[in-house]
Order: sequence, then C-alpha cells, then structure tokens
Amino acid sequence: MNMQTIRKEFTLNGIGLHTGKKVNLHFIPSDHGKVTFISKGINIDAHYDNVISTNFAVTLGRSGVSISTVEHLLSALHIFGIDSIYIEIDGPEIPIFEGSARIFVDAIKSIGTMDIDEKRTYFTVTEPFQVDMDDKYLLFLPSKKFEVKYTISFNHPLLDKVTEEFILNKKSYESKICFSRTFTFVNVIEGLREKGLIKGGSLDNAIVLDDDGIVNGDLRIENEWLKHKVLDLIGDIYLLGKPFMGRIVAYKSGHTLDVKAIRAISNHQRTVYAIPKPGYQFLPHFNK
Ligand SMILES: [Zn+2]
Repeated sequence: MNMQTIRKEFTLNGIGLHTGKKVNLHFIPSDHGKVTFISKGINIDAHYDNVISTNFAVTLGRSGVSISTVEHLLSALHIFGIDSIYIEIDGPEIPIFEGSARIFVDAIKSIGTMDIDEKRTYFTVTEPFQVDMDDKYLLFLPSKKFEVKYTISFNHPLLDKVTEEFILNKKSYESKICFSRTFTFVNVIEGLREKGLIKGGSLDNAIVLDDDGIVNGDLRIENEWLKHKVLDLIGDIYLLGKPFMGRIVAYKSGHTLDVKAIRAISNHQRTVYAIPKPGYQFLPHFNK
C-alpha cells in the first residue's frame, strides 16, 4: 500500500483553547512522506523528537516556535491514513473546535485522499513491551490490527475503573471515537482561568464534571471520556512518525506517559517493518 496525502488544499479556522484567539490552519498536499507543521517559516515534523511539553496537551516545538494541542488533529490523520501533508498554522495552538476530532474527519472525508509514490510502512510491535509511570502503564503487544484496551480510573463516581476495548479503523473511529469530547472538572477550570489560560474554553468544547456528575448536558456516547482518551492516545502514538499496528493495553495513561512510552519502544525495538507478508509469525496474542 502506498502512502497517502489529501487530494487538494483546504483551510479550517477556529479559536485556540488557551489563547482564545482565532487561528487559521492551511492543509497542503505533499509527497515528502511526513506530517509536517509550518509556523513562522519553521518546519516542525509530527515526531516525538519535537515534543517540548505534554502538560494538558501535546506541544511540538523547534527553533523557538511551538504548536500546542496537536493530538486531536494527529488522531484523525492517523486513522484516516494521511501519511504526508503540510499544515501551515498562524498561531501557537491548534484550534479546539468542539473538543474532539470530528471537524478533521469531516474535512478529510469531504476533500478525499490520494496515493503518493512512496510505500507506506507501519510501526509494528515484535515482542511485549511495557512502560510504567507511577501506577499507570502502557503495554504494547504484537497484533496485525490496531487495537486498544483502555482503562480510566479517577476518584469520581462516574470515572472509577471503566474499561473498554476497540479494534481501530475508520469505521469504529467514526462511529465511536472521533466526536468524543475531552472532560474536565469544575475546580480545574477555575484554577486554569485564574492562571489566564483556557480563554477559548467554553461549556461547548468539553464535558464538565463536578463531584456529583456532569454539569453541562448529556454525553454524546456512553463513556465519552474514555473514548476521548483513546482519541488522544491514537494522536500521541502517531508521533512515532508512522502508523501503528499492534495492541495497546492502557491503564490510566495520558500524554506524558504516551510520549514517554513511544520514545522507549522506539529505542528498545527495531519495530519498523513494511506491512508484514502472509506467513509472518507474530507472537501469540495474549491479553492482560
Ligand atoms: Zn484530547
């Protein structure tokens, strides 16, 4: 299978979550084989080497230029097989839109994709590999599919030990994941506002919880918060610089552990193969 890019240029604009300012995103087809952001004339590849912060969101940076909140866009590009693209941005963060990846999916679907003259390779897992951080972990296992089993556990009646499992592809992503919004707590919002952050945050772009439950309406889907964590993970994993093929068991993961884990697995395993040929022996599939 060849790498893919978008069929033609398009632009999206929206408000940055933290700055509250309007940002324009200009998507440009390419054949250079990477996802590359361009800001102030500086090219920044979507790669873990360029991650400068994982606090609340993933921030990429190089030569004094930074771009924050790349994960929802990368998540949509990952699942929709966009290997090669330039994304020009005229502000410091990707707009939050309505707190999910839906706008990117809608745009990619309406513009369409096309092959470039380069073979796609996947990042595959050759042996079990686990990365821990405090009581959290990410376990990578070999699989011929992209699968995620995710557990969240927060000290809250709605978020205490919820586990779901997904086989990820365009269909499951569209029907369960891409529209799922991030969640936050009333007291976290107050703290961030006091610091002058989340100027572009509103009750429209996150599920807001207090001690008892949701304060801003209904969920779009059962366990929307968990599905959003999977959305984030898919975006973070794309910072490997290649689409991922394997099974991930995630326990209480987040951006910091996600990026730590992909750095570790890249250094530990020579796991970049072209799509395996029939007869390729994976290790036996096992659960945890
Ligand atoms: Zn997110």
